[in-house]
Amino acid sequence: MFIKNIRTFTLAPARLKKTNLRIIGSEIAAEGSSLVRMKNEQVVDLEGKLVLPGFVNAHTHLYSSLSRGMPMPSRAPANFTEILKNIWWKLDVALDEETLYYSALVGAIEAIRCGTTALVDHHASPSSIKGSLDLIKKALKEIGLRGVLCYEVTDRGGKKKRDEGLEENERFIEGNKTDEYFRGYVGAHAAFTLSDESLHLCGELAAKHNTGVHIHVSEDACEVKDAKEKHKSTVFGRLTPHKILTKDSILAHCVHLTPSEFKTSKEKECWLVHNPRSNMNNRVGYAPIHLFGEKCALGTDGFPADMLEEARFAFLKQRDSHLDGNVNDANLVTGGQRLITNIFGKKFGTFETGAPADLVVMNYNEPTPMEKDNLLGHYLFGMQSSMVESVMVGGRWVMKDRKIVGIDEDQIFARSRQLAKTLWIKMEKST
Ligand SMILES: [Zn+2]
Repeated sequence: MFIKNIRTFTLAPARLKKTNLRIIGSEIAAEGSSLVRMKNEQVVDLEGKLVLPGFVNAHTHLYSSLSRGMPMPSRAPANFTEILKNIWWKLDVALDEETLYYSALVGAIEAIRCGTTALVDHHASPSSIKGSLDLIKKALKEIGLRGVLCYEVTDRGGKKKRDEGLEENERFIEGNKTDEYFRGYVGAHAAFTLSDESLHLCGELAAKHNTGVHIHVSEDACEVKDAKEKHKSTVFGRLTPHKILTKDSILAHCVHLTPSEFKTSKEKECWLVHNPRSNMNNRVGYAPIHLFGEKCALGTDGFPADMLEEARFAFLKQRDSHLDGNVNDANLVTGGQRLITNIFGKKFGTFETGAPADLVVMNYNEPTPMEKDNLLGHYLFGMQSSMVESVMVGGRWVMKDRKIVGIDEDQIFARSRQLAKTLWIKMEKST
């Protein structure tokens, strides 16, 4: 396929270029202003449109997709632990196979509409553990997204369910080691819901399969308190002995890490994921992203996978925090692409030859000059996900002119509304 008359836009490195692209199979075969159409090649003329590498959501929970608008507990949760117990742990336990499958479908559709082409998901469905990651994969495949999936191991449901969670991770990791679009990870909820033995099992499983642990870390101050009071330790003090902190680890939130823990995470080369909208909504505090280092990325933590919106919140919240310190915003908003480059072993976030053809076509008609030095300003203050016109994943159009290809979106949403209603009733009955 020959895509002509476009302007490619990247933030890291900052580049805006009038050019053409050749896509062969699932990859970018060539890029250049002097490229010409080959014989029999399909031509797509996108005169003046911006083309960006697909956005990547580095930490999310598709299982929460059907929570939008659900009735809140009669007594408002007083703190983070109550938010988990009275909302999310009631929701995840109420998920059955069809509901979790539709949660993934709905979340994937919304992701594509925002130009998000890959999701790093953290899944929980304690009443339906075995095969749950395959159902999410099936849903993402149907829509056309890439996914890095894991099951959230926790001690909250007892040893049997913990072990089922570990088995689900292992099964999925083994089955997707060479998949072009999917990988498995080891999911772990958080240090405060995992014993030392369970942390050890998660770390060992990741080491065995040469992968990483995807875990919530110091999201709320309660986790720091738990480590101190129950374990006479710190959060990192609990994770370090169990091979949780490695160059492949994905640590979400990191709101209450200490400067010395940030230093350790840099030494261990962990990935740190910033979730500004979720942090604000749960009132857990502000993550000092100026301490996150190079290996940082953005995640929506269950909010719709609108990475432009998440980037805007990250930027504005950082401004509002009055904290000193330089934040490399371009590095932060492109972190997800670097993360999955690490995971899939292919270079995402670029238009170089051999890069996966994951593209966002954006209808952005800039009202002010746009050039190399002010791309971030246009990205943060001008671009909206509603301007995403078409999306390609692995060389295939998954959304064309705002229409998701190959699915009946209305039918899916009609069914998801029914399932959400049933889910909410089930949750209410469990209170
Ligand atoms: Zn999360």
